[in-house]
Amino acid sequence: MLIEKLKSIVGVEGWVDEPAVLESHLTEWRGAYRGKTPLMVVPRTTSEVSELVRACAAERTAIVPQGGNTGLCGGAIPDSSNTQILLSLARLNRIRSVSPDDYSLVAEAGCVLADVQSQAREINRLFALSLAAEGSCQIGGNISTNAGGTNVLRFGTAREQVLGLEVVLADGSIWDGIRSLRKDTAGYDLKQLFIGAEGTLGIITAASLRLFPLPRDLHTAIIAVASPGDAVALLSDLRSQLSDQIQAFELISDRALRFVMRHIAGVRAPFAENHPWYVLIEGSVPGGQKGFDTVLMNTMDRGLALNAIVAGSLREADEFWRLRHSISEAQKSEGASLKHDVSVPVGRIGDFIRSAESAVQKVLADARVVAFGHVGDGNVHFNISQPKSQSLEQFGGYAAALSDAVYSVTLAFNGSISAEHGIGKAKRELLRKVRGETELSLMRAVKQALDPANIMNPGKVL
Ligand SMILES: Cc1cc2nc3c(=O)[nH]c(=O)nc-3n(C[C@H](O)[C@H](O)[C@H](O)COP(=O)(O)OP(=O)(O)OC[C@H]3O[C@@H](n4cnc5c(N)ncnc54)[C@H](O)[C@@H]3O)c2cc1C
Repeated sequence: MLIEKLKSIVGVEGWVDEPAVLESHLTEWRGAYRGKTPLMVVPRTTSEVSELVRACAAERTAIVPQGGNTGLCGGAIPDSSNTQILLSLARLNRIRSVSPDDYSLVAEAGCVLADVQSQAREINRLFALSLAAEGSCQIGGNISTNAGGTNVLRFGTAREQVLGLEVVLADGSIWDGIRSLRKDTAGYDLKQLFIGAEGTLGIITAASLRLFPLPRDLHTAIIAVASPGDAVALLSDLRSQLSDQIQAFELISDRALRFVMRHIAGVRAPFAENHPWYVLIEGSVPGGQKGFDTVLMNTMDRGLALNAIVAGSLREADEFWRLRHSISEAQKSEGASLKHDVSVPVGRIGDFIRSAESAVQKVLADARVVAFGHVGDGNVHFNISQPKSQSLEQFGGYAAALSDAVYSVTLAFNGSISAEHGIGKAKRELLRKVRGETELSLMRAVKQALDPANIMNPGKVL
């Protein structure tokens, strides 16, 4: 009965129940989670979303919102009960308005991130959020996970790009909080509740987004360094030399680069020789390529860098970025991988990587640590690839102990167990262990107030 009602709300084009079509929506990007659903609805308007939620609320049926399904914590995958309705935002994908003078645009939740970026570029503006999955992740998913990516250092996370939200609440009512104001202290800032809530408090249907002027004199370089500690010292030095105009500062370990060279077609190594670590940096540097060369020569003279190449063309810059963006894909080809998306204070990155590596090796000497990430934000993707000597089952037997080792070191460094990927299903238990009772009961109180029947993405986060 409910299923028929949901189908009638969205019409024949707006639902799917064929197993073959549903397959990719029911499997997480890495294949770590699989779920079941009796129906996926694909509404085209906010009022359709509202009607769908109202109908589900009346039957106390759970809804799992899904964007591009690139999340890495299982948050967008229904459970295995075959009762949860999957709600894809893919057809709610219009840019509603652009406003160059306000430096803002309003996008519906299903707009693909790369499309939002190009809409902004068309009016000579920058939408600053950028991540490797930008060709398929959606702005609603980005906001719901408070995504980070490569430009956080200069422009902040998804949270900082949001000026206003439109949200369908758990009873089906619509909260129209679409505003483009820079200043607004009228009451609680409710949009903040839904940012990073992973669909557990409501369904984001549209967002007013902040734009920036397009950066000038943007240059990309790849720099070889001896250690993560040196990378942090280099960052500190460059931030002061360049008046904080660095927008990306990505650390890549030699192992990560070797995986990319081995598995990704058409890439080439930046340097003739191998170095222990590399940093990919993008920033606005006056004086063009020559200016950047001079800055980097300075850093090399002072022993902060071993070698450096400034991209001589956009094509070369894209090639450098491709090396960074291909790491996750390349790692897939090396077997199973345990992912730890953690953050620690920026100045402690070097010590953290050293300590975590040694803790991991005490558990499993052959474990292959693949550390990389947004080091300018203190965010390390501390991944561990399956040793060549072990079968998947054998490696699986060590998984819990390896992750415990990484998270213990992270907490000892006053870090976070989730820097940018969120909690989803994957880190639910862990969240309970690391957040105190006061904080957890505040979270539960918010959930209870906004979703008393627990129909919004239940079993995720809390
Ligand atoms: C190769 C690769 C690289 C990545 N790099 C980064 C990176 O650098 N930084 C980073 O932060 N992440 C990264 N990610 C993770 C992922 O891309 C982000 O978490 C992204 O923001 C998820 O967007 P999505 O549209 O795919 O959301 P989904 O995976 O579909 O959903 C994520 C969560 O948000 C909820 N949700 C989705 N849409 C809505 C909505 N409209 N309303 C309410 N809830 C909703 C879902 O229920 C789920 O809980 C990467 C992933 C891959 C595969």
